[in-house]
Amino acid sequence: MGVAETLYDVLGVLQEASHSEIKAAFHKLARQSHPDKQNSLRQTTANLDFKRIQLAWETLGTAEKRQEYDDNLQQEELQERSRTHGAIDIAMDEVEEALDEETNETMLVYDCRCGEEVFLPVKQATGSLLVDCEGCCFVYRINYDE
Ligand SMILES: [Zn+2]
Repeated sequence: MGVAETLYDVLGVLQEASHSEIKAAFHKLARQSHPDKQNSLRQTTANLDFKRIQLAWETLGTAEKRQEYDDNLQQEELQERSRTHGAIDIAMDEVEEALDEETNETMLVYDCRCGEEVFLPVKQATGSLLVDCEGCCFVYRINYDE
């Protein structure tokens, strides 16, 4: 089995799609699959499609929910990669706080072996988080409990 269908697949948009692109895709699909517009033979399938499309829009159409969904998607993808290739553990004393100039947020920074800097959120919650380096293929696991 391949990668499970994402909410982006449901709406037929790319994960990088802008809010207005997602909105347009939703409106188009909603029009096409609205149960009222189908004949009775197709109505059950149309109903199911319509519900899936609506659910996808509820999540992807709300910035906060979309962010949360994206984070989860990324963690799933990194978990998959770390199962195959392994992940390198980072301890809290190996990172430094720094300002991310793009977002103006304080982040934790780890110097990857390839020379790139890996940015990690300053997370208050306990547990661990997987991140990947943009400069190479390493996957890191930071353990916030330690
Ligand atoms: Zn790297």
